[in-house]
Amino acid sequence: MPSISILPADRVFVLTGAGVSAESGLPTFRASDGLWAGYRIEDVCTPDAWRRDPAGVWAFYSARRAAGQKAQPNPAHFALAGLESQLPGRFFLCTQNVDGLHERAGSTNLVHMHGELAKSRCERECGRPPVEDHAVYASLDEVGHCPCGGRLRPHIVFFGEMPLEMPRIEREIGRATLMIVAGTSGSVYPAASFVHWARAAGARTVYVGPEEPLNAAAFTHVVKGKAGEVLPGLFQVES
Ligand code: NAD
Repeated sequence: MPSISILPADRVFVLTGAGVSAESGLPTFRASDGLWAGYRIEDVCTPDAWRRDPAGVWAFYSARRAAGQKAQPNPAHFALAGLESQLPGRFFLCTQNVDGLHERAGSTNLVHMHGELAKSRCERECGRPPVEDHAVYASLDEVGHCPCGGRLRPHIVFFGEMPLEMPRIEREIGRATLMIVAGTSGSVYPAASFVHWARAAGARTVYVGPEEPLNAAAFTHVVKGKAGEVLPGLFQVES
């Protein structure tokens, strides 16, 4: 694949998904059997699961924290951080991933639209901001409470909840001229719509991943391959 030019007038919006962290050893969401690390999503990642079984939800996210703490950023994370440093003020990263691997690779202008594994927040949505929390809880008794009395829950957007930072994300998509999407199956909304919004605003759109996503038809380029192998050489920043 010849490299794709990023021109001086371009503004870049990047969307990443679980596939970008696959080469760091973190399992993707829909690997093959509809399970995520052995769990059914409706048992661990919905508001109903939280109401019914907060201990089970914390057991799942504690295991994700333990795995995330061991994982290291891979060449895909570093390639995106490198691109940001070459495009000061013209690069925005939106990740669906809740791990912190983009930041650990050096990305700074980013949002976690589905939350962050290393934070917790009040289950009552009382208005207090999320707090940093790396704890791996062995039981629900260990989980702290907010000053308002609500139990702390993972700072994760459960299925059926509103993604975070949507006004900022929409603004950035509206002014992007190049959208790069990597490692996401195109099955979780609204993220799967972003490519359509970018196309409607006239942007070029590039997908990187080993399989075509469900929304492949909306991309101007689909580059098949692992993000850690493809992204480091894919873009040429023109001056
Ligand atoms: P998904 O599991 O639905 O899709 C993963 C995609 O990654 C697939 O299309 C697959 O072909 C692709 N892929 C696999 N290996 C790859 C590689 N080496 N390079 C590039 N692509 C690769 O994941 P999704 O679309 O991100 O949606 C899942 C949801 O689950 C997200 O909302 C996310 O918040 C959450 N999630 C996060 C993490 C994480 O933070 N690391 C992990 C799993 C799930």
